[in-house]
Amino acid sequence: MPTGLLSAITTPLWSFSGKLRALKEPFIAPICPEKEESVADFARRRLGHEIYRYGINPLIGGIYAGEPERLSLRYAFPKLYALEQKYGGILRGSFAIMRAGRKSNVPKAEKQIISFKNGLAELPQLLVAALGEAVHSNVSISSIQKIGVGWRVDWNGKTNIYDEVLLTTPAHALDKLPLDESLQKALQPLLAIDYSPVSVLTVAFKRSDVAHPLDGFGVLVPEYEGRKILGVLFPASLFASRAPAGEVLLTVFVGGERQAGLAVPDTDTLLATVLPELNELFGTTGEPTFSHHRHWPRAIPQYNLGYGKMLAQMDAIEKKFVGLKLAGNYRDGISLSYCIEAAVSKEGHVTA
Ligand SMILES: Cc1cc2nc3c(=O)[nH]c(=O)nc-3n(C[C@H](O)[C@H](O)[C@H](O)COP(=O)(O)OP(=O)(O)OC[C@H]3O[C@@H](n4cnc5c(N)ncnc54)[C@H](O)[C@@H]3O)c2cc1C
Repeated sequence: MPTGLLSAITTPLWSFSGKLRALKEPFIAPICPEKEESVADFARRRLGHEIYRYGINPLIGGIYAGEPERLSLRYAFPKLYALEQKYGGILRGSFAIMRAGRKSNVPKAEKQIISFKNGLAELPQLLVAALGEAVHSNVSISSIQKIGVGWRVDWNGKTNIYDEVLLTTPAHALDKLPLDESLQKALQPLLAIDYSPVSVLTVAFKRSDVAHPLDGFGVLVPEYEGRKILGVLFPASLFASRAPAGEVLLTVFVGGERQAGLAVPDTDTLLATVLPELNELFGTTGEPTFSHHRHWPRAIPQYNLGYGKMLAQMDAIEKKFVGLKLAGNYRDGISLSYCIEAAVSKEGHVTA
């Protein structure tokens, strides 16, 4: 995938006519802001069928494990939506932002792909260490009730009074919480938020058993190619210490909205689906030296068409139940960085 304008022009990924069509992008008028458009319609309208099919479609499979015909551009990619609405198009907007960035004296933070040596759990563990005794984990909450201006939370047989309550479970778990009836009723519509199912299979091979150099981030699969996987990451090419010397690691994503039925909990079934695909794509031979499978029946919330109603409902609940906050990846964006940004930027949310 090209990562800049020059590589987008020179890449062999798209045909000459596909690139010419994409270059018309700055001259395509924005649609009226009231019309909600799917990501697929937006991409085809502004960039053409080919860039959609071999650019945007596989990206959506990789980011949302979602269905581009149903994902709402406005809510799933608000920055892209704003580029069209504010500047008239993606290219015009990107150049305007670049020019403004050059003029401003604010140092630009360099974007990086980061990971944690011992897994994502390191982040909450560090937060817990920083907050010290204020954190109580592994407690069983029996009741959360609104009382006057505060909240009464009963846990481990004790009653505690708090100014605010922040709910950070996935939306589909909100009905599992011991909340009072009126709040539970208000939260009910959020249970309808779609989550895509994903199976993540991590397999290691001897380096000599993989023909491909694995010189990149990984692979995203366009739906049009009819494969049984969404994509593959090359963790050992991206980060140090991800595989023993002489071995390589492949993280394979299966299912999503595209092929929900393939995201199965059974590892042998998954291996039977995935290994032939890896053989075709990377020339893998022999058996994996290691495999690990994690099945996420409800992995990623889908900001589908009409998602504005869900967000409005969340705002209304917070207004009605003063001191209650809803946070998590179904609110302000699905990436971990958006979750963190939202948590630290909203007054009254996380203060650590
Ligand atoms: C397979 C996969 C790959 C991803 N890859 C990336 C990536 O490369 N980059 C990126 O930025 N993001 C990625 N994401 C997205 C990112 O991981 C999530 O969006 C982010 O972790 C969401 O944070 P959260 O706090 O909203 O939810 P979660 O991290 O899901 O936390 C919700 C918590 O609620 C708890 N919970 C659930 N039910 C209850 C209950 N009844 N009572 C109490 N607690 C409960 C859960 O145990 C969990 O700890 C990926 C997600 C998945 C599924």
